[in-house]
Amino acid sequence: MFRVSQYMRELVRAEHDGAYPAQAALRHAGAAGAPGQAAGPVVIWNLIRRCNLTCKHCYSISADHDYAGELSTAEVFTVMDDLKAFRVPVLILSGGEPLLRPDIFQIAERAKAMGFYVGLSSNGTLIDEPMADRITALGFDYVGISLDGIGATHDRFRRLEGAFDRSLAAVRLLHARGVKVGLRYTMTAMNAVDLAPLLQLMEDEGVDKFYFSHLNYAGRGNIHRARDAQFTATRLALDLLLDKAWAAALAGSPHDYVTGNNDADGAYLLQWVQQRLPRWACALRERLVAWGGNSSGVNIANIDNLGTVHPDTMWWHHALGNVRERPFSAIWPDTSDPLMRGLKQKPRPVGGRCAACQHFALCGGNTRVRAQQVTGNPWAEDPGCYLSDEEIGLPASAAGSSAPPRVLMTPFAYAVRQSS
Ligand code: SF4
Repeated sequence: MFRVSQYMRELVRAEHDGAYPAQAALRHAGAAGAPGQAAGPVVIWNLIRRCNLTCKHCYSISADHDYAGELSTAEVFTVMDDLKAFRVPVLILSGGEPLLRPDIFQIAERAKAMGFYVGLSSNGTLIDEPMADRITALGFDYVGISLDGIGATHDRFRRLEGAFDRSLAAVRLLHARGVKVGLRYTMTAMNAVDLAPLLQLMEDEGVDKFYFSHLNYAGRGNIHRARDAQFTATRLALDLLLDKAWAAALAGSPHDYVTGNNDADGAYLLQWVQQRLPRWACALRERLVAWGGNSSGVNIANIDNLGTVHPDTMWWHHALGNVRERPFSAIWPDTSDPLMRGLKQKPRPVGGRCAACQHFALCGGNTRVRAQQVTGNPWAEDPGCYLSDEEIGLPASAAGSSAPPRVLMTPFAYAVRQSS
């Protein structure tokens, strides 16, 4: 996750103080734990795969039926004990639709009592007044509700008429009860035009957070990758988002803008600062290098509904082990898996234009899933990078140039099965 608002606030502070805030003052308490002890990763936990929706970009390819073999309540509790001992600070409870899991409040209550920061990731359609009361009473630290457009756009994405009204009602119910709530938006060519109205909606409703997700090529998101936003649309979206975040930071607003699934956003912010606030560009670059870009397999982990551990939620097609057979705390540091070894390597062994990019230290080569899904090679350049050759420090592409052509997104192709 790329915390746009955090950097914007630092820039506002720098403008005010005449000096960029020192790294030490910026360190967040809590997540780092006691001195000398590294924190575990943030764990996104898909506790259930069943969902009442069948969204077009769903990475878990969920549907409205039960899935056999999911972790029992007792098994979830055992894993939680291990995660706590492994110094995992944050649990994001997800699905499918996590509210369909009958023991979701039991699990969340225990997680809160154990001291985890507990988030809930929901489509919002099941949150009526009584459910909003339960969520409020339990004290979730954050609830993210997916909204991929206004009205019919969202309904088409989510494949349910009326989904937008129900999800927006959920946002309002939670917000009215003082729950920290955010909108989660995944941009494709089909809903790019809805970004500005959604950001306006966020402001009008006083929503705490806006999570802008680029499309990653996993699950149905991979099948529909031909509808990914093109680079021009992505850049326009980022321009709008950065301007909004800057205005909010200047106004002292507590509302957050964050992005995900495209770590080139850090380089794009750096360019934004070089053009508007050039005296802070060096200091910001240092901050972004300390962040380091993509953190799949390092600071972000995923456990799916069957207990299988993945480098992040977009890697369901790559298993690292199962918590029924080996504790998470043993699976996570194990680098015998070549993908995990590469993800944990510094710098990562990424090739193509990423290897030659001047922003590699702050981007980390971006999202490995897109590279792997499009080329078959997880260490190829990310075809989702929307920066030009010139912007990444390569000679601009020209006719007759000897530079290798960049990897471009190609549509998903179903494998043709031979009948035997
Ligand atoms: S070229 Fe690669 S390393 Fe550079 S910004 Fe784009 S994705 Fe990141």
